[in-house]
Amino acid sequence: MKLELLYFLIKGNNKKVLVVGAGLAGTTIARVLAENNIKVEIIEKRNHVGGNVFDFINSHNERIHKYGPHILHCNKNDKALSFLSRFTEWVNYDHKVRALLSDGRTTPIPVNKNTIEHIFNKRFVDEEDFKSFINNIRDMKIIPKNTDEFFEANVGNKIADILFRPYTKKMWGIDPKELNIGVGARLSIKFNDDDRYFNDSFQALPKEGYTKMIENMLDHINININLNTNFQRGMELYFKHAFLCLPIDKFYSFKFGVLPYRSIIFEERIESSEDLEVPVINFTDKSSYTRKTQWNLFPNSGRSKKDIKTITYEKPCSLDENPDEYYYPVQTSKSRKIYQKYKSYSKNEKKITFCGRTGLFKYIDMIPAVTIHQRIAYKYLREI
Ligand code: UDP
Repeated sequence: MKLELLYFLIKGNNKKVLVVGAGLAGTTIARVLAENNIKVEIIEKRNHVGGNVFDFINSHNERIHKYGPHILHCNKNDKALSFLSRFTEWVNYDHKVRALLSDGRTTPIPVNKNTIEHIFNKRFVDEEDFKSFINNIRDMKIIPKNTDEFFEANVGNKIADILFRPYTKKMWGIDPKELNIGVGARLSIKFNDDDRYFNDSFQALPKEGYTKMIENMLDHINININLNTNFQRGMELYFKHAFLCLPIDKFYSFKFGVLPYRSIIFEERIESSEDLEVPVINFTDKSSYTRKTQWNLFPNSGRSKKDIKTITYEKPCSLDENPDEYYYPVQTSKSRKIYQKYKSYSKNEKKITFCGRTGLFKYIDMIPAVTIHQRIAYKYLREI
């Protein structure tokens, strides 16, 4: 018997619940259960909590989001926000992103009135003027069924070819025609000068970072955390129930096929050039990077004392190139069908619930992630 399994045989007992993964999903479940008098044992394969929202202050006093920029956004009355607000204060921050054009200028993303003025080199007198121009360049007859058609219907081919198709292809590693419409539809067009990335009424960053927020959520007498601990098949048997934030296809030895994921390689560079215009610049051309982020422009970061700054470049890649670093579930009609088979099969499991991005094979923003996992925890509480 492997050493870790033996350890769990001793630690586990049928009054405790096992949570695999100390990211936002697993942490939300653990907190809700702990507050309802359930003892929770968490295992986490990494040497830190927080999953992909993990952040830290580096030696230059900048707060780095290790797995790419995460901005919290939702309706200001959202219940998941009230829940998270018990564990952190917030710094308001309206996220802004610009795309680098081939002539070296940058332009707002998502597309707004200024974006079209930049690209077509013209001025609109008002919103109506802009709307009628957009309606002429896009294909309003299409009822979009995939991400490529969404671009054509929403902004037309010229803008799609400059801002969306090459970016989407390198981001996801497949043609946007194969991608479910939900991916492209995350960015909607704005008919005014609003250059915020999101439309939500609440947009912010945790004052002391996401890691501190997660640590506060995990700080409960009924929660015990084991870092650097890999899940092994069989561990779940020693607990009353197991919530598994891990790839569902791997758990079942890929019996219905492999679920596709896109991974990201993060390249940190120390630069002394001028500040970026906004914290994130997207590269929408065919180059290999998708975006760069200047961390000290976020309002919950410190500023480096010298005139240097850390800029992280993101390069999408396959899971083979970055083993075990699961980031984006690639949502196609084929992958949805494969996932449905795993989902139906897992319904027979009475003592296991799959959670998180890889357990649910779902591309989830932070607030929906909290909402979904609060529900999962409360459903479990109702049924025991
Ligand atoms: N997208 C694009 N160009 C951009 C930004 C986004 O084509 O400059 C597309 C791309 O397909 C991306 C999707 O819009 O995957 C959703 O973008 P979002 O910023 O929500 O992605 P995330 O921040 O989750 O990587």
